[in-house]
Amino acid sequence: MIDSHCHLDFDTFRDDIDSVLARARQAGVRRFLIPGTTPSGWQRQAALSQQHSDIDVAYGLHPYFLHDDNQSGLHALSEHLSHCDAMPLAIGEIGLDATVDIPESEQVAVLDKQLGIAKDAGLPVILHHRKTHHLLLERLKAMKYENGGVIHAFSGSQQVAEDYIERGFLLGVGGTITYARAQKTRETFKNVPLGTLLLETDSPDMPMSGRQGKRNEPAFIRQVLSSLSELREEDEQHLIAVTSANYSRLFSSKETG
Ligand SMILES: [Zn+2]
Repeated sequence: MIDSHCHLDFDTFRDDIDSVLARARQAGVRRFLIPGTTPSGWQRQAALSQQHSDIDVAYGLHPYFLHDDNQSGLHALSEHLSHCDAMPLAIGEIGLDATVDIPESEQVAVLDKQLGIAKDAGLPVILHHRKTHHLLLERLKAMKYENGGVIHAFSGSQQVAEDYIERGFLLGVGGTITYARAQKTRETFKNVPLGTLLLETDSPDMPMSGRQGKRNEPAFIRQVLSSLSELREEDEQHLIAVTSANYSRLFSSKETG
């Protein structure tokens, strides 16, 4: 099983990262993908992936952490990509968030630049959305972005899911489906093809049902798996095999070397 989205570089894991990883491996997690958020995070991610052969990384500027002048961050990203020891699997976590205090026009400008960086590097992207599906789809189209990627922590209707799938995107399945009230999203994940899904936790955020207010960690991905298995009436081992194959297909075929 692969946790395709966990922020293990965050400070909250600094003191007990080894036990967090051990608990996850014990629960059956075979790979971890840490998406990027800020330049200082990229350094920590690079160190973690050097120490642990089962940790993959992506680099990018997350919309939560943008500020007034993002030119230096974008410049740092290009520099980091040209100097890092190992190429990341993707550019991300990038995207648009309608609930943060950064003007939409600035978020769009930074997103467009990073879509361009992904195109140039031949890499897929990890997209963050919050109340922004319409605008995100518009940007992918406007930028003629065709390297695919994943919509992390997807929530939304089947129609929106299909719009992303048509553009070559996979959907990240996270803790949202462990909540009975998330009816629309649960219905979507019940019906879309299994070949379009990746499992994720978004640790330390998005705690599963029953764990609200606590730090999330990759070991809890089992709860996402069992909810998905119940919803789709499909065997857990089958879900693990197919979502892991989806991960390899998305993140290895786009590498240019
Ligand atoms: Zn994230």
